[in-house]
Amino acid sequence: MLIGVPKEIKNHEYRVGLTPSGVREIVAAGHKVVVQTQAGLAIGFTDENYLQAGASIAATAEAVFAAADMIIKVKEPQPVECRMLRPGQVLFTYLHLAPDPEQTRLLVESEAIAIAYETVTDERGGLPLLAPMSEVAGRMAVQAGAHALEKAQGGRGVLLGGVPGVAPAKVVVIGGGVVGLNAARMAQGLGADVTLLDKSLGRLKEIDNVYQGRIKTLMSNAANIEESIRDADMVVGAVLIPGAAAPKLVSRAMLKNMKTGAVLVDVAIDQGGCFETSRATTHQDPTYIVDGIVHYCVANMPGGVARTSTMALTNATLPYALELAGKGWAEALIANPHLRNGLNVCRGKVTYAAVARDLGYEY
Ligand code: NAD
Repeated sequence: MLIGVPKEIKNHEYRVGLTPSGVREIVAAGHKVVVQTQAGLAIGFTDENYLQAGASIAATAEAVFAAADMIIKVKEPQPVECRMLRPGQVLFTYLHLAPDPEQTRLLVESEAIAIAYETVTDERGGLPLLAPMSEVAGRMAVQAGAHALEKAQGGRGVLLGGVPGVAPAKVVVIGGGVVGLNAARMAQGLGADVTLLDKSLGRLKEIDNVYQGRIKTLMSNAANIEESIRDADMVVGAVLIPGAAAPKLVSRAMLKNMKTGAVLVDVAIDQGGCFETSRATTHQDPTYIVDGIVHYCVANMPGGVARTSTMALTNATLPYALELAGKGWAEALIANPHLRNGLNVCRGKVTYAAVARDLGYEY
């Protein structure tokens, strides 16, 4: 199969669909890869790196789309990219169709086979192609929050780990899934005093078993949230209710009880945010202050560490890309029901129930 990797065109998107080492694996399996020139240059993957891995280089996105049997990307296709897809061509990327009627319509019209990273499942009920970005965002949340705690950023001027003779900062993480646990681990590793809240007692038990009190666990309820954020230096919002907007767990009124210069990092902002005062920000202008509390609410955090994110993404997507290339999309989806869950649009039909329901397509 011939796999095409175009350069991402969404604003400030520096990730790329395949790393050179991913290309090497695909070529070793007997397939061909064509990469658009400079597709990975911004994160240090040169055309020369891709050529050495066995890819060929195309001058334009049009040439990549025209040649390839399957396109591997990162972000959802923009309208100009949707129009380059042809019937029967496979598209493997993040799609997030439910809130995006225009993209859905264009993909339906293209009659391509669109497989979304975010709905591929695994045998434990997880989302293996979403998890790497949650790992990145969770770890980055603490790094970003630590920076925001500095005086020059409007923060309290507190060092997360303290120093000998000075107490460490208090970090509260709300939500103990992939994002939350990665954030808690980073904060604990930097020496902070960490408390993690989740609604799932089972999840709290698992975390307590592993961390044996080094990460304190608390049941997530209004009283515990109110009490724990009162003397927090940093609060990380990391909740998810699948398929729904994030619940608002910290109200504006609750900010008045917090310490001036404390930091809220709302990772759940891509689902609307779990703090009442959150609004999406960008890497160019990541923070703002409400009632003396610094808010960091970047909606695409992994884009800020695009090189790490690209490598993490290729690690996760490559086995599925090899299945699709090796068996052909139809055989691969029949053989692997978890990969089949990724199929969102197929030859002019919406094939994912939630998207069909939300956007009024026949299913
Ligand atoms: P996950 O499903 O692994 O974990 C979510 C956790 O939230 C679960 O453990 C669940 O029990 C818990 N939860 C649900 N309601 C709760 C409540 N009321 N109080 C406390 N905990 C509650 O999800 P994840 O992968 O960790 O993702 C978390 C959020 O981060 C999602 O909204 C996701 O979209 C977002 N995210 C954002 C970025 C970004 O760049 N901003 C990147 C990756 C993920």
